[in-house]
Amino acid sequence: MELKKNQMIELDITGYTAEGNGVGRYNGIAVFVPHAAAGDRLSVKILKTAKTYAFGKIEKILSSSPDRIPVDCPQFSRCGGCVYRHVRYEAECKAKQQRVQDAIERIAGFHYTILNPIVRAENPDHYRNKAQLPVGGGPGGEISLGFYASHSHRIIDCGECLLQPQVFSAAAGAFREWEKRTREDVYDEKTGRGHIRHFFLRLAESTGEVMACVVVNGNGVHNEPELVELLKNNVPGLKSVVINSNRERTNVILGPKCRTIWGQDTITDELCGLKFRISPLSFYQVNRRQAERLYRLAAEYAGLTGGETILDLYCGTGTIGLSMAKNAGKVIGVEIIPQAVEDARQNAEENGIENAEFLCMDAAKAADMLKNRGEKPDVVILDPPRKGCDESLIDTVGKMAPQRVVYVSCDPETLSRDLKRFALRGYKTMQITPVDLFPRTAHVECVVLMSRVEK
Ligand code: SAH
Repeated sequence: MELKKNQMIELDITGYTAEGNGVGRYNGIAVFVPHAAAGDRLSVKILKTAKTYAFGKIEKILSSSPDRIPVDCPQFSRCGGCVYRHVRYEAECKAKQQRVQDAIERIAGFHYTILNPIVRAENPDHYRNKAQLPVGGGPGGEISLGFYASHSHRIIDCGECLLQPQVFSAAAGAFREWEKRTREDVYDEKTGRGHIRHFFLRLAESTGEVMACVVVNGNGVHNEPELVELLKNNVPGLKSVVINSNRERTNVILGPKCRTIWGQDTITDELCGLKFRISPLSFYQVNRRQAERLYRLAAEYAGLTGGETILDLYCGTGTIGLSMAKNAGKVIGVEIIPQAVEDARQNAEENGIENAEFLCMDAAKAADMLKNRGEKPDVVILDPPRKGCDESLIDTVGKMAPQRVVYVSCDPETLSRDLKRFALRGYKTMQITPVDLFPRTAHVECVVLMSRVEK
């Protein structure tokens, strides 16, 4: 029996999708329901239908899952940030573990005993060290400042976010007060007119240093000294105030040019015992504490004894390879974004690391070039974006024949596809450990050890 739009059904939620929606079956049809919890019995209104699945929304909770908890954020139902604020953290971790297990079994065809339990966050809230708050026109001439609604660019006005450190709320408050006094016009995405685009914040957690950055469609803002004063008086740890110019009509938040109007150009954080300088433009892991655990696992899997050559592909600003450099012979990092490569070189220099070189190239092309140059890495590290690795890269890595491949992935589905491809080239998956880098969201990171089993 087919489902129709606006139909009311009763549904038992049995699990979650990769996006974090609850899912249940109705006459063989999968019905996806946002903010549902596994174990709920619901009255659901069907909103959209297709042949094998449908989307619905909760009309009434008939019987509540034991995993349900009271939602502690008033924006949860509208904001696009969190998907798991209505269930206990244990249940969220279980859902993420299940997602990885399903992908490994279904796509790679492996038995799941190689899967370790997910590394949970000690505190699933207040972990983000970066906030990019869009600024829009609000009612009565006041601004709205907050987050985009789910799948949209409508701004939900809220200063506070439970994923962020409290100091960001203080900074947002100071920014609002400045805007109230200055009445600077805000940018309108639809027309490309107006001035203030985003309020951007970063915290170096280990040192407590805070950077505040106003992104403008122009070169500056009126009344910069008052903005600095308000921020200085309200934001503990403030070390840097920056204006970023973005004159493009684009979704990209930051423009290429930064001007420091008070304090330092960068703030400094510590990760795995190394110092990293962070500017508004540098890539840096948003959950420092969990990233550190992820990198430590990657280092354990790399099994270094001191003389190894490490090839760190998709290296970003070099964090993974650099954190292993002192236990290796040499590190070769490869990254496609020039600015990140520059940062990686600077990070190496500032930490006194002399056995690392960085190439600004496509990972597959670089691997091919390095193979032809006769490099024989003992360990290859892969940390690709969501779409995973090109098959040609997996081919080349297979031919380079490293003893170990350590794969860090933010997408269990493409990871599983790639592990299967590696298996066909003589690499056995020994261990998979999910790490909860982004609590309350649907994302899950994994770190994998593969070992070479064939000549
Ligand atoms: N390993 C880093 C960054 C991982 S994010 C860290 O842990 O911080 C993935 C990185 O891959 C990004 O920096 C992105 O710019 C880079 N990238 C994307 N496509 C690439 C390609 N084809 N070749 C090389 N690097 C690429």
